[in-house]
Amino acid sequence: MTRTLEISHSLLQEMIAYVDQRAPLEACGLLAGKAARAEKMIGVLNQAQSPVRFVMDPYEQLHAFDWIESNGLDLVGIFHSHPAGPETASPTDILEAAYEVVHVILARAGTQWKARGFWIEDDKASEVALQIME
Ligand SMILES: [Zn+2]
Repeated sequence: MTRTLEISHSLLQEMIAYVDQRAPLEACGLLAGKAARAEKMIGVLNQAQSPVRFVMDPYEQLHAFDWIESNGLDLVGIFHSHPAGPETASPTDILEAAYEVVHVILARAGTQWKARGFWIEDDKASEVALQIME
């Protein structure tokens, strides 16, 4: 089964701007949308305030879920950044993945950010295609 996530180019730029502002700390948030299409990003405070891990602030996360529900959308993805790499899901990401949605990792190399998507299940991460739409 191939899982994909569609993200508009402008939404991707919005995510990159969000995580770039918070670098070198990791940043995180939720992606809301319908079916396999992300329509909105909601940034959530990284309670860990760490450059190598993230813990979503529970209050902000709850607030974000309320917003998604009241707007008739679904949780379609979770994003977080790796300001110092790598591009792939870390063992901690795999261990702590709590939702069966696409995990988008924004990794920085030099001044450029690159987005990759992963499906995490049964203690392993497999890459899924992110479709960046105009
Ligand atoms: Zn990570």
